[in-house]
Amino acid sequence: MDLIVSKFGGSSVASSEKIEQIVKIMKLNRSRRCIVLSAPGKAPGFNVKVTDLLIDVCGKALGNQDYSAPLADIKSRFFAIYEPLGVRKDNLSKVLLDLDERLKSASEQPAKFRDLVVAAGEDINCRLFADYLNTAGIKARYVSPKEAGLIVTPVFGDAQPIPEASMKLAALKSVCADNVIVFPGFFGVTEAGDVATFSRGGSDLTGAILAEAIDAVEYENWTDVDGIRSAHPLMVDSPAQITALTYREMRELSYIGFNVLHEEAVKPVMRKKIPIRLRNSNNIDNGGTLIVAERLPGERDVVGIASGSGYCSFTLQKFLMNREKGFGRKLLSIFEEMNLSYEHCPSGVDNISLILDQEQLKPETPSAIIRAINEQLVPDDIKTEFGIALVSVVGEGLVRKIGVLSLAASALSKAGVNIKMINQGSSEISIIFGIDAMDEKKAVNALYKEFF
Ligand code: ASP
Repeated sequence: MDLIVSKFGGSSVASSEKIEQIVKIMKLNRSRRCIVLSAPGKAPGFNVKVTDLLIDVCGKALGNQDYSAPLADIKSRFFAIYEPLGVRKDNLSKVLLDLDERLKSASEQPAKFRDLVVAAGEDINCRLFADYLNTAGIKARYVSPKEAGLIVTPVFGDAQPIPEASMKLAALKSVCADNVIVFPGFFGVTEAGDVATFSRGGSDLTGAILAEAIDAVEYENWTDVDGIRSAHPLMVDSPAQITALTYREMRELSYIGFNVLHEEAVKPVMRKKIPIRLRNSNNIDNGGTLIVAERLPGERDVVGIASGSGYCSFTLQKFLMNREKGFGRKLLSIFEEMNLSYEHCPSGVDNISLILDQEQLKPETPSAIIRAINEQLVPDDIKTEFGIALVSVVGEGLVRKIGVLSLAASALSKAGVNIKMINQGSSEISIIFGIDAMDEKKAVNALYKEFF
């Protein structure tokens, strides 16, 4: 039987109507037999996500403060969603008691306590949803990560699935034959049996892990947008929707500016080449965006233009640098020792630049870097520049098509944008331009016009 894993994010479970919409979506395709849910997100009249309320409760509990107000908000949120759907009050109260139990548990290990409490958003939501499905005539079963064997590393707040988890989870395939599975996103259990969450947005990862484990034919990720657009709507007016792109293209786009899926969610599905489809639960007529291992040749050469600002560069000049062994290594180790990561490192005959995300720097960091470089590498000159934007042209077609770089560069020059740096990644599927942050919008629009 073909199985689809369907993950619904916080906005798709935020009200009774949204929950009904999920049932409608499930009925449209009977292969949707493994449902992963987030905790309820924001909705009209509810401007805080349940996960954020839980984090608040947790902080207050750990600080011995009164947390009754956010706790009451969480409970009334679940009542507001599930009571109108016919879930019985006594059942709702019973499921919600679990939250009180978690809050009673020992809190000597704050991170462990936090994860146990914060994971309750997804867990309670799934118990109630499964209950609702059964009353609505769909045979459903809530499955806990513990029972199913979603074992994760004991890194609270940033756990990772252990490789063996997938083998255990594969047994869910047969459970899907008789029941729709309702599985909470965002957390697993450690070998010691403690609840440990992924990083924020981690329900995407749960969906991907399950899709891999049960050999799903597709991993659907339902949110409140139609799919991925070829440029950011804040940069370009009504950018076109991307119908299909590859995992690699998605990775390049989300590297700067595109907020698509949780970063770690691609890895499990990529291993088995399972397509991911991003869909909008408010607009089910739109087919969404498909993310696949290979897309058809003949589709667009360039799929998207991504951009982001807030970068800075350190450029060193030294005559005969090319002959000096270990120069690059020493330069990179200066940054490593200061615990700074870099984005790009374009180099010329006698010069080399390092581009960094400026946000990592403290006010004193740039002078410390310059001091260390001067001491250890004795360059002829060193220049720093702040307020750089990176603009990236992304597409598998870049490998096969001649002249994309020249088209892009001339579009930027026609728009009067000065290019400070060009980097064609080794993957060859992106060309990244470093420009003045003031020109970001102008540059994205010029490139968008050129390629779309
Ligand atoms: N509820 C969690 C969060 O808000 C996890 C998720 O929705 O994916 O980050």
